[in-house]
Amino acid sequence: MKAAALFSIPNDIRVTDIDRPQIGDSDFLIKVRACALCATDVKVALRGRHFLIDLHGLPFVLGHEIAGEVAEVGRDVKGVSEGDRVAVSPYVPCGNCYACRIGNYRFCEKAPFSWITPGGFTEYIKVPGENAASRVAKMPLDLSFEEAALTEPVACCFNGIAKSRIRMGEDVTILGAGPIGLMLLQLAKVAGAGRVIMIDMDKKRIRYAKEFGADEVIDAGTEDPGECIRELTQGRGSDVVIEAIGSTKTYQQALQLVRGGGTVTFFGGCPGGSTIEIGTDLLHYMELTLVGAQSFGPDVFHKSLKLISTGRIDAKRLITHRYYSLDKVKEAIDISINKEGLKKVVII
Ligand SMILES: [Zn+2]
Ligand SMILES: [Zn+2]
Repeated sequence: MKAAALFSIPNDIRVTDIDRPQIGDSDFLIKVRACALCATDVKVALRGRHFLIDLHGLPFVLGHEIAGEVAEVGRDVKGVSEGDRVAVSPYVPCGNCYACRIGNYRFCEKAPFSWITPGGFTEYIKVPGENAASRVAKMPLDLSFEEAALTEPVACCFNGIAKSRIRMGEDVTILGAGPIGLMLLQLAKVAGAGRVIMIDMDKKRIRYAKEFGADEVIDAGTEDPGECIRELTQGRGSDVVIEAIGSTKTYQQALQLVRGGGTVTFFGGCPGGSTIEIGTDLLHYMELTLVGAQSFGPDVFHKSLKLISTGRIDAKRLITHRYYSLDKVKEAIDISINKEGLKKVVII
């Protein structure tokens, strides 16, 4: 079968022939129908940092935002049948280890061993069947594969919003109006935000923020975000601030925009080893809650597909680029480096 694989760093992606995965009694096979490109894929293509590359080396098939059809089911797998149209979680927590028992899925000891093989930019993937029913979400008939492929990033954002503990009517400020920022925007509204304020300095992204219904948009290229937020909140600061860029500069800035007693959620991933300085006054006297958010649990994955299929999250509008060949993965990454468009989906 064909696969778009990363052969060397940076971004040397070529279509190659690989063996179709063989499934055992406790696995199942998915025929990939759509795989969306994630900012993480772009980072991995440029820097080569991924635990699966450390484990197996290159070439490596990227892609983990997947929807497809169940093509073959091992004898012992329960909860999925051939022909099911599903969104696929790339990994799934075991449900049994200490971390899982307390709902701390990010730290499941076994989740790394439950990854799909290979990545999604190919024709078929093998899914280990442990917890099969919890790792795929069945799609309603009227939902397209390309929309369902966004279940994984929406689930990550869902977790970020849930951890931000927005109370109805509160101000939520989001730094970064890329695809993730725009998903967070829509989810913040679902969660009851009274007003969503978006900050970016890219003109195209500022336009997207308005199109997707931000109540206020701040152009950090020409305006001082701190001043604008103080003005909008009578000097208090925003109830919740979510960083969705992944730079130390905006990590630091997020801390300046929140009100006393408010919550800052660090959603964007900075390059490994990055550090920021935080005044202790801010932590102690300002009683801030600082939250990190990165992964999601199985319940969130299923609810995220529901939010997409009911239109609470407009997945269709987030997809700006559709490619109908695996040859185009490299091109999709190239234009993402230039921050062009929003979600890119390869439809197979
Ligand atoms: Zn992703
Ligand atoms: Zn576990």
